[in-house]
Amino acid sequence: MSYFRNLARIATGQRNLDPRMAIYYVTAQCNLNCAYCEDFGARRNPAQSTHQPLEHTQHILRVIRGGTDALWLTGGEPLLAPHLLDLMGFAKRELRFRSLTVISNGTLLPSHPQILPLLDRLVISLDTLDPAAWEALNMPKTYAESILEIVRDTAKEQKKHNFKLILNAVITPENLESEKPDSPFSALDALIDFCVQNKIWISFSPQSVNNWPRYELTVSPTYQAFIQKLIQLKRDGTPIMGSLAYLRTLATLEPYDCYPTLIPRILPGGELEYPCRPIAKAGNEQGGREINLLDFASWKEAWAAARQRYGEAPVACNSCFQQCYAEPSLMQSRPLEACLEKTRVSGKLNLEQFSPG
Ligand code: SF4
Ligand code: SF4
Repeated sequence: MSYFRNLARIATGQRNLDPRMAIYYVTAQCNLNCAYCEDFGARRNPAQSTHQPLEHTQHILRVIRGGTDALWLTGGEPLLAPHLLDLMGFAKRELRFRSLTVISNGTLLPSHPQILPLLDRLVISLDTLDPAAWEALNMPKTYAESILEIVRDTAKEQKKHNFKLILNAVITPENLESEKPDSPFSALDALIDFCVQNKIWISFSPQSVNNWPRYELTVSPTYQAFIQKLIQLKRDGTPIMGSLAYLRTLATLEPYDCYPTLIPRILPGGELEYPCRPIAKAGNEQGGREINLLDFASWKEAWAAARQRYGEAPVACNSCFQQCYAEPSLMQSRPLEACLEKTRVSGKLNLEQFSPG
């Protein structure tokens, strides 16, 4: 029902849409150090908060559940939080979240097989199959040598535990380059083949720099050709996440109407990033992190306090083209495209189907 309620609000010019899913950063600590990561990474660990006690995180999830029934748990690296399994069990069994997604770098999965039965979706961030490229991104050699095996093994568990495995790749000028001098295939093409072979879905987002697509991508014919290839592959049935509307937006990089309140993000300590992560991070009068879910008994109260403190979400702000920002806004504000997309995927039109982060 919130989809139609949101549509009615859009029709009357309102910006305050009901959330369709929420992202909780279980911990800000990470065991990797990806060069392009703008927020986390081992180099920033000493300055970052760690996880909260279990009772606090349970309260945070209880408040979130009052606003939405779809939850993503991420980090940093969420598997570094010692209470992750307890928290997932609480989310699924007690709070009855309809959909539970964990976004991880995958490196610690072999020591946490118990999370698999609790998952609806597992998203592993992986941008290339090439160990040399991982090492260039600061991934320790031991992980670089084992990650593909981890992904293959995890893919085999999908049927048994009834979850969907998705690889999430960031498109960079580097991984768009041909793997070998005379080859037309890039590292990203190899990644798509790997996913097809192992029955894994894959999603793509352009690398962002200061919340805008990295400049070299915006002027790159190779980037254009790759997005057109993704559109064709998706039409042909390759398991590529993202609506055609999103992929077309990636090709044109034209402004779209962003409704950031569709996916609220909450930091490990309970701080609500209002109205969205980039604006809250800037911390000016348009948004911030002063509202903490630990101080509220319900989502409605916390959200009302954030609106009162910072005002409505902005109009005509559209710098973010990562799938997790753009996709929900596109599907929410373009019902015809959403209906067409629904015919391409089985089941209901749940926005989280298209936006794995
Ligand atoms: S694994 Fe994720 S959170 Fe950690 S440094 Fe890399 S991109 Fe950032
Ligand atoms: S494009 Fe959307 S998510 Fe990005 S800063 Fe603007 S309102 Fe926030």
